[in-house]
Amino acid sequence: MTFEELQLLPAIVEAVREQGYETPTPIQAEAIPAVLAGHDLLAGAQTGTGKTAAFTLPMLHLLATRGETPKRGQRRPIRALVLTPTRELAAQVEASVKAYGKHLKLKSAVVFGGVGLNPQIEKLAKGADILVATPGRLLDLADQGHLDLSTVEILVLDEADRMLDMGFIHDVRKVLALLPRNKQSLLFSATFSDEIKTLAASLLRDPKHIQV
Ligand code: AMP
Repeated sequence: MTFEELQLLPAIVEAVREQGYETPTPIQAEAIPAVLAGHDLLAGAQTGTGKTAAFTLPMLHLLATRGETPKRGQRRPIRALVLTPTRELAAQVEASVKAYGKHLKLKSAVVFGGVGLNPQIEKLAKGADILVATPGRLLDLADQGHLDLSTVEILVLDEADRMLDMGFIHDVRKVLALLPRNKQSLLFSATFSDEIKTLAASLLRDPKHIQV
């Protein structure tokens, strides 16, 4: 299996090569075709398996191939939202989005708690196609009117079990309520408690199940 065989845009395959990756990891080989085909995903994967690229690569492909180029001066709507439990993970995921998307014209932003709001507000005002966020800060920004999440096409919950372990279930549910019903949702978790299963059942529509 090669990245070309996964039918990703050449610009994405090239960025992957520049990262030094030669072949997709098992989770990438399974997840990428499912996401490209438009399926929701319930993926059991530990960190270190290549899960970030497993959702980021097809997400970038879908956004780049079905997007309209925004007109000059027009604010880009948020089309993909990635929720992570910690600011460290949010920053890492956004760095991956930037690295894999370096040959595309998509913009990304990251917001997390523990730092000042104003730089994040300014960044959001400029518009981003892809937003990576921790749930609490995302809600603060939404409550203050700095975020419109009604245009989200793709949602990723990364490390969903950690998100719930850290007590974010209410925040996650509030975020979900701000999103359109019609979207593609991908849930990644290392473990599957009853709470995760309940969340998955309420969010995902006929998901593909992947376990690595
Ligand atoms: P993750 O599980 O997403 O945290 O990724 C774990 C590590 O694997 C990261 O350092 C990635 O840069 C690396 N990685 C992801 N995909 C591949 C691949 N296909 N080949 C080699 N390394 C990879």
